[in-house]
Formats: sequence, structure tokens, C-alpha cells
Amino acid sequence: MTTKPASMTSVTRTIRITLRKGKEQSVKRFHPWIFSGAVASVSGEPVEGDVAEVFASDNTYLATGHWAPGSIAVRIFSFSRCTPDREFFRKKLMDAMNYRISAGIAGKSDTNAWRLVHGEGDGLPGLVIDLYGNVAVLQAHTAGFWHIREMIAGLLPEVTGGLVHSVYDKSEGTLPFMAKLNPSNGYIMGANGETGTVVSENGFRFRVDWEKGQKTGFFIDQRDSRSLLRQYCNGRSVLNMFGYTGGFSVYAMSNAALVHTVDSSATATATADENVYLNFGSDPRHRSFATDAFSFLSSMESEYDLIILDPPAFAKHHNALNQALQGYRRLNALALKKIKPGGLLFTFSCSQVVSRDDFRRSVFVAAANTGRNVRILHQTGQPPDHPVSIYHPESEYLKGLMLYVE
Ligand code: SAH
Repeated sequence: MTTKPASMTSVTRTIRITLRKGKEQSVKRFHPWIFSGAVASVSGEPVEGDVAEVFASDNTYLATGHWAPGSIAVRIFSFSRCTPDREFFRKKLMDAMNYRISAGIAGKSDTNAWRLVHGEGDGLPGLVIDLYGNVAVLQAHTAGFWHIREMIAGLLPEVTGGLVHSVYDKSEGTLPFMAKLNPSNGYIMGANGETGTVVSENGFRFRVDWEKGQKTGFFIDQRDSRSLLRQYCNGRSVLNMFGYTGGFSVYAMSNAALVHTVDSSATATATADENVYLNFGSDPRHRSFATDAFSFLSSMESEYDLIILDPPAFAKHHNALNQALQGYRRLNALALKKIKPGGLLFTFSCSQVVSRDDFRRSVFVAAANTGRNVRILHQTGQPPDHPVSIYHPESEYLKGLMLYVE
């Protein structure tokens, strides 16, 4: 169990931020971030995670959010005056739940792994909550949400109509290092001792390990692309690069001739094998390889007619953008060169700083360099439980292209 930080007492405190003249425009357009350069003054001695009320230079109220000392000074959760107490967050979480009911995600009989809160996309910047059956896995990306994580956890049973029984806090790797909060992962509600479970996604079964797995344990955000993939696997030889625990592989196994999963993590490929087994038993059509994707692609024969490329984010910051774009070009060129004629490439970028246009350009340049004729079958994005706020285009982080390669 985590110890309460020294700054816990400051949580109920509200500080006042005044913006420089003219810097209120982006807030008026509902963009949820205030960059430190826009701030003229901060009242008192703020502590990371404090609630901040933001005012324009003429002292009109603009918004309320959580303060942090980094380049993003305030992450806004309300554009109207509010008291951010239990009732306030209950309503925000209820909104997130109702949205997912409208989108047909909550309560689907064949899918019990879905995202209840997607940060900025749900007007709660800094908070992510994924549901795996009755267990919610919470990740606080800000001190502000980390301080109130137990309150948030306590609201989840009611907000989800009794679905959530337990809440696992997995904020160790997501909180800002400089905040010195000393988080430790563990249950903050209804500890059931489980470190994972088997979930259903569109009727397929997957082992999810939220304790040791990446992110909250599973890449829920690829659900719709996995479904789309299934339509194109019939009789094909499929190569699932950066396969993690075999999400795409399991769908492909429905009707593919052969499925190979590649990931540099041996733990991931072992779980991929287990997931294929859970759904198809011992099936010689599947094999996995714990190895580097680039060397696998460079040395393999042209034996695949469908290749999936779903690498981790190549750029976490703007200054790494050019290098990331080069990475996408190189990776896609390697795959495009080797796909059998008439084959398909399903390629993704999950880097937030790489725009859809940037990504398309990288892939198109890679295609042109290989001299292959390529057509776009589909352009994909995030599923509805990872909503994109139209006021925060940066929340559109996941971009996919399914290409037909002559
Ligand atoms: N497609 C997956 C998610 C992929 S996440 C799904 O649907 O679940 C990215 C994966 O890339 C991680 O599992 C990580 O271990 C793997 N990875 C990172 N660098 C790699 C490399 N150089 N070669 C192979 N795999 C790599």
C-alpha cells in the first residue's frame, strides 16, 4: 500500500493562476493544457497536484485544473466554475460511463476489457482507467489525480452500476518522476490478490497481467483494428510484428493459413502462445519468435502476404519527431519490400507527436522507395472508448493504414 505524500494536505488548497495578456485564447477554445509560458503569475507557493483556478489577464475566470511545475502548467478538467469534490468527479465519471453506454461498449456480452476513462478525451487529463471484468486498473499521470485516486476508486462501483469490485493502482511508471511521490503499484480498493485475469474481446479470450504487463496489461486500443484484420486473413500467411501478447495473432488465427508473432519480449511471446492456445488449442499454424523486429524483417524470406506493424511509440517528445519519422520509413520499407505481391500491410503509429499526415507521408515515401504500387484499403484510428476531444487534436494518437501492395 502506498504511503500518503507530504503534500496530501495541500490537495484541498486552490491556487490562482493568472495568464499573460492574449494567452486566454486557447482556453476559450477549450484546449485543456496551459503551457508554463502562458502564465503571468501563480499565487502563493504551489505544490504539484494543487487545484488551480485560471484567470485571464483582466481577471475573468477561465477554467479549473491540476497544477504541475513542468512545461504543461495546468491540465484543465472544468471550463466552468466548480468545486472539484467527490460529487464533481462522480458526475465526470458518470459522463464517461454514459458515453460508453451510448457507444455500445459498456455492457457488451462478448467484450469485458474496455477503457472507462481516457484522459483528455474524457475531460479528465491525467487519468486513465481500464476495466478488465470486475477489476479497474487506474493510472494517474499527474500528482493531482494521484492524490485523489482513492476517492476516484471509491466512486467506480456506483458509476459502473456495480460492475467494478476492485481497483488496482498502476501509477508507478506513469507519474512524473520529479514529483517524488514514491508510488507503489497495488490494490487501493477490494484487494482480491489477483495480478491478472482472462478477458473476452469480441468473443476471443486473452490473459491479461496488469501487474507485470505493459501499460495496464493489454492494448485495448487496437480492438477495432483487430476486428478489421480478421476480415482479411482468410488463407493468408500472417506476420504479426511487435505482437505483444498476440492480440492480432489470435484474431488472425480464425482463418489464416499461418500466423507468426514477433516481439522482443520473451514474456510477451509466451503469453501470445498461451492466448493462441486458450482460443485454438495446440495449433501448428502459430509460432512465435522472441527477437528484434528489425533484424527479423531484414533476414526473413518473402513468405508472408499479410504483415502487421504495431511498434511502440517512436517519439515521446517533439524533439524526437524527425528520428521517429525516419524510424517509420525504415520499418515500413523493410516490410513493404518483402510482402508477397497482392499482399497487405497493416501499419500503425501510436506516437502522439506524429500526426496522421506525418505518418502517411513516412509510409508513402517508404512505399515509393521500394517501387511497389500501393493502394489504401482502410485508414483506422482509436476505438470509441479512447475518444478524441475535438478541442484537443493531440488525443488522436493512434493512426493505422491498411495497404494493398501489388
Ligand atoms: N500489437 C500489440 C501491441 C504492441 S505494443 C497488441 O495488439 O497487443 C509494442 C510491442 O513492441 C511491445 O510488446 C514491445 O515489447 C515490442 N517491441 C519493442 N521494441 C521492439 C523491437 N525492436 N523488436 C520487437 N518488438 C519490440
